Amino acid sequence: MEEKRFIYLDHAATTPARPEVVEAMLPFFTEQFGNPSSVYTFSQKTKAVVTKCRETIAKSINVKSNEIYFTAGGSESDNWALKAAAEAYAGKGKHIITTKIEHHAILHTAQYLEKRGFEVTYVDVDENGIVRLDRLKSAIRPDTILISVMFANNEIGTIQPIKEIGEIAKEHNILFHTDAVQAYGQIPIDVEECNIDMLSASGHKLNGPKGIGFLYIRSGLKLRNFVHGGGQERARRAGTENVTGIVGLAKAVEAAFADMDERAKKECEMRDYLIDRILSEIPYVRLNGDRRRRLPNNVNVSFQFIEGESLLIMLDMAGICASSGSACTSGSLDPSHVLLGIGLPHEIAHGSLRMTLGDENTMEEMDYVIDHIKEIVAKLRAMSPLYEDFVKNNSYE
Ligand SMILES: *Cc1c(COP(=O)(O)O)cnc(C)c1O
Repeated sequence: MEEKRFIYLDHAATTPARPEVVEAMLPFFTEQFGNPSSVYTFSQKTKAVVTKCRETIAKSINVKSNEIYFTAGGSESDNWALKAAAEAYAGKGKHIITTKIEHHAILHTAQYLEKRGFEVTYVDVDENGIVRLDRLKSAIRPDTILISVMFANNEIGTIQPIKEIGEIAKEHNILFHTDAVQAYGQIPIDVEECNIDMLSASGHKLNGPKGIGFLYIRSGLKLRNFVHGGGQERARRAGTENVTGIVGLAKAVEAAFADMDERAKKECEMRDYLIDRILSEIPYVRLNGDRRRRLPNNVNVSFQFIEGESLLIMLDMAGICASSGSACTSGSLDPSHVLLGIGLPHEIAHGSLRMTLGDENTMEEMDYVIDHIKEIVAKLRAMSPLYEDFVKNNSYE
């Protein structure tokens, strides 16, 4: 009998921590448990480690280490950036620009701000999920205080023209925030070159621990403090540092940047193999997201005449973990706002499958995955009345 396989293709949802990440963290639970704020030598060692981790992370995006603020992850960083910028700059204006395809950590925060008297413009994207720069420009008003556009999309992998958006923001003297949670550690990011004022990132999306991330805040920005209390994070985000998390995050960052090119090359190869074979061997299927401006690890396809949820369940029975949209929306019947945002009709969006690759995946796994997708799609279509009608109406005998 064939042994039960486990193939994890949901790295946009979360990733396994690298062994060296866990190893680096362990001593900070036990022997080196000191609170970085204490004065004795024992704790000062921990403090020095946190400082070093901050430097590693700052270097990875070409900023100064006093511009890095540790948080509990991507959602917190996004909340902080939007809410604090809105509050700090409300005197200048109450208009914010973002896009229709942001993560819910941005969209729901923007909706919260709308209830508090801010106006938000959700800019359209094109059919591949790229922000329309002309629409972005024409959305700018004298009272616009903030533009927030994600670096790369978590569902369709599209990489945005961040440098161009940064230029537009700078030209109009508007703050620019980017949710870089998916891009960070996968593709190079240069904050200076892109005129980014604030950037969110998260540990567990780049083979680091869950519950740790950071917000980069350009020095000189007068943002409100996010957590009031002690003096940690230069008093802007109080609370004893998540030392183990910080050590794990820094280790993950170091490792991700060390093998980024090699990993991207390998993942692109697997990604393109998956895409090419699915598009050529399965009828009535489309690729979602831009073919070229795409994260190395993202595949998102829609199969006509099937339900993505059924496909997921059958893939799960074959030991394959994938996603039909975004992990947060599973359980809801609405199709993903990102797929609707690129103009897919509801019935096509419902038949979508997202597979996001990681370093531990292999080409051999891709063959197994494609074989199973072909078989499952054929099975599901054979049971679909819609497909039956379609075949009837399109046969010309
Ligand atoms: C995962 C994700 C987040 C949330 O990050 P957490 O660390 O899980 O809170 C935010 N934005 C994007 C684009 C993501 O993919």
